[in-house]
Amino acid sequence: MSYSLVWFKRDLRWQDHEALAHAAMHGPVRCIYVVEPKLWLQPDAALQHFEFIRESLQDLDAHLRTLGGRVEIHTGELPEVLTKIWHDAPFSGLYAHEETGNSFTYARDLKVGAWCQAHGVRWQEFAQFGVVRRLKNRNLWQAAWEQHMASPLQNLNSLTFWQSPSAASFVMSAPSQLQHNPPLRQRGGRTLALATLNSFLSARSIGYRGGISSPLSAPDACSRLSVYLAFGCISMREVVQKTRTHMAGLPPQASRHRAGLSGFLSRLYWHCHFIQKLESEPAIEWRNMHRGYDDLREQTFNPEYFEALKDARTGWPMVDACVIMLRETGWLNFRMRAMLVSVAAYPLWLHWRPVGEWLATQFLDYEPGIHWSQLQMQSGTTGINTTRVYNPIKQAQDHDTHGVFVRRWLPYMRDVPDTWLFEPWLKPAQLQAHSTTSIEIPPPLVDLALATRTSKQLLHARRQTKEVKAGKQAVVDKHASRQTFRKRSASLKKNAGASQQLGFDF
Ligand SMILES: Cc1cc2nc3c(=O)[nH]c(=O)nc-3n(C[C@H](O)[C@H](O)[C@H](O)COP(=O)(O)OP(=O)(O)OC[C@H]3O[C@@H](n4cnc5c(N)ncnc54)[C@H](O)[C@@H]3O)c2cc1C
Repeated sequence: MSYSLVWFKRDLRWQDHEALAHAAMHGPVRCIYVVEPKLWLQPDAALQHFEFIRESLQDLDAHLRTLGGRVEIHTGELPEVLTKIWHDAPFSGLYAHEETGNSFTYARDLKVGAWCQAHGVRWQEFAQFGVVRRLKNRNLWQAAWEQHMASPLQNLNSLTFWQSPSAASFVMSAPSQLQHNPPLRQRGGRTLALATLNSFLSARSIGYRGGISSPLSAPDACSRLSVYLAFGCISMREVVQKTRTHMAGLPPQASRHRAGLSGFLSRLYWHCHFIQKLESEPAIEWRNMHRGYDDLREQTFNPEYFEALKDARTGWPMVDACVIMLRETGWLNFRMRAMLVSVAAYPLWLHWRPVGEWLATQFLDYEPGIHWSQLQMQSGTTGINTTRVYNPIKQAQDHDTHGVFVRRWLPYMRDVPDTWLFEPWLKPAQLQAHSTTSIEIPPPLVDLALATRTSKQLLHARRQTKEVKAGKQAVVDKHASRQTFRKRSASLKKNAGASQQLGFDF
């Protein structure tokens, strides 16, 4: 008897799993995850991603075993693994979710499609988010997003498993070259995803509005769902629908809570909006969205500045504390991510690609579509966004007024009196003798004001060129959001006073 193969990728859940639900309509299913060695050799891969996936698969496997099935772990490249499975026991259909990944997964999916065609296997892929494959016209995008989010959850009524010859226990070992697994990172699995969503909706989201910009309040006030969405432990549709239901049940006087949740819903929309950019133009993982910005930073990359940034030695305490928090936890809030990239792109004048590769390994929630679009946006190479330059001293004054954050992550700041909190390099040398740590306070890598001014001038000079002006409309047509959402966002900002929280242009 034949069966359908369900290929789990970044959709590690059993509830609202469209591929699994559809495969189940055609008879017995067999569930696989493939550890692809070459995928884990890509520069954006880190051990934390692998371990998070392993934890999520363990949770999935445990659930499927209660239903009489399991997840098989196969190791090898695709489509070779499919060939092997097919030779052992041919399957009639392959079911998976669409993935807007990096260039490796893009090329691999093309090979899998060709393999299915050659072997007469039905290859069905389903949308994971509100991202539209082969989108013809951006004007239709918002309606498609709404339609996807409003459609019923695909829950499993009955599931029959293909009886695999061996019911081996779950084993999955990490490729040896993988590094970086922050001790305080979030753990994987749908069970934890649901607990995170529930604690956010029932309690933490009260602090969302006003709480998401400071790195002190953000870890609790933000939903912390990004990694669960990135690896599909929970579906975006389930999050949207549960949030809408929760909002509908709030009492009329809960206006602040409601405003926070509508800000949260807008971000879920932006999640897909950003991924759509990479889906529509995969090359933006590697090259400028607006080609008029080519050769702006490529020739002047300063490796010493880059190493200092990665080692938390820029000299700006807010930047260095963020690098260490990220290293220890795998997470940072939006504003601090934007500040890190802004410091790299403007005063340090570093090209976004190496910075983005490093950050991809640091962010547990690495989602290529959001990541590369944001890297380019914060570096000023999209041609359609206003230049946003975050001053790390001002960010510290606004979001860590009493130095609690920098002192938590940078031991040497604990001895710095408040007077020099924001510019500790100005602390008189004789006070250094009273320091309880032997770590020297690093001086700033560059003169912040001067370096920022120079970089802005370079960017603006490029923006004024005929070539850049002429190329802008094509980027707008392909990637910019449409009028209707601009209006919606403007009214959202007005109603919720959330312009500072939204933190991005369209
Ligand atoms: C340079 C840079 C790189 C980033 N890289 C990633 C990434 O790889 N993966 C990732 O999920 N987010 C990324 N973000 C967006 C954002 O910082 C994170 O989504 C957010 O901090 C995750 O925390 P949260 O789930 O608690 O967010 P919440 O504030 O609770 O937001 C809810 C969800 O909305 C989405 N979201 C939030 N902010 C944005 C945004 N600005 N753009 C698009 N979607 C958003 C995320 O899916 C998030 O889980 C990046 C931002 C910047 C500036």
